[in-house]
Amino acid sequence: MLIVMHHGATDDQIRAVQKAVEEMGLRAEPIPGSERTAIGVLGNRGYVDDTGILDLPGVREVIHVSKPYKLVSRDFHPAATVVKAGGVAVGEGHAPAVMAGPCSIESEEQMVTAARLVKAAGAQVLRGGAFKPRTGPHTFQGLGVEGLKYLRLAGDEAGMPVVTEVMRIGQLDDVCRYADILQIGARNMQNFDLLKEVGKLRHPVLLKRGMSATIEEFLAAAEYLLAEGNDQVILCERGIRTFERATRNTLDLSVVPLIRELSHLPIIVDPSHATGQRSLVPVMSRAALVAGAQGLMIEVHPEPEKALCDGAQSLNGPGFQTLMDDLRGLMKFLGY
Ligand code: PEP
Ligand code: MN
Repeated sequence: MLIVMHHGATDDQIRAVQKAVEEMGLRAEPIPGSERTAIGVLGNRGYVDDTGILDLPGVREVIHVSKPYKLVSRDFHPAATVVKAGGVAVGEGHAPAVMAGPCSIESEEQMVTAARLVKAAGAQVLRGGAFKPRTGPHTFQGLGVEGLKYLRLAGDEAGMPVVTEVMRIGQLDDVCRYADILQIGARNMQNFDLLKEVGKLRHPVLLKRGMSATIEEFLAAAEYLLAEGNDQVILCERGIRTFERATRNTLDLSVVPLIRELSHLPIIVDPSHATGQRSLVPVMSRAALVAGAQGLMIEVHPEPEKALCDGAQSLNGPGFQTLMDDLRGLMKFLGY
């Protein structure tokens, strides 16, 4: 950490900052410059909380060199983590895993039909939301525990592990009973209490990037899970908010190779929520694999025009089959 003093900071102010740093058990090394003095902070083993420093008279800014994450970083843990869920492996050395299914679970019949068609097309994991984080309270909120039962039944029938979102701690018992992978959605990426509780479990987790989260915040959120002992974490890029409104979100594909450099955790891409538009899903799925995504999450509905949620971005059975046929060719080309 580097503490930069104001132009006219006095010797007394500089000494007071040094003292404050030393009281934190760290070393302070003043670096006098022609314009201003900076104070290098040494001896810390990770991120330093700067709240007590920023308020001291004469301090202009604090520049952090250490990251707020460590356990998720490649520096700390060079070997890639492979997440295993119900016989499916996600991560380095494995072909990209495809998770597919409807946005929300609507009925037993819809789920069983969806499971059969995504399985037949070659998906490995079945998705479906029982607890839905909807923007407005007057829209379909999900079937809750009843939906979890349909998801499990459909997954078992098709022989697929299932992933579903958990929105709060109180839902964890039910979601763990029925699901193989716990999804923490974009809106809950920084629900730190939820992250801590899920970190205490041994269930694999799919952590989606918050819609306005930086990569550092994304990795720091994953750090909460690992800090509690759960390293079975798959990261998911699902598009971020930008000024662009022509697509639902902006798919930030460069995070895929960057996260593979920075972290040992696998990263997958959700082109459905990223684009919001069915016609863009196949091409962005291919782009994601080329960028190095270790999996995809794709919304598929037997009848997208009747979907209670996210129909416009959902592929139908034949559309998904065509996509999977294309992806097989691409995976071969990419050497999987
Ligand atoms: C979802 O996958 O159903 C979902 C709500 O995604 P996100 O959290 O990325 O918006
Ligand atoms: Mn959705």
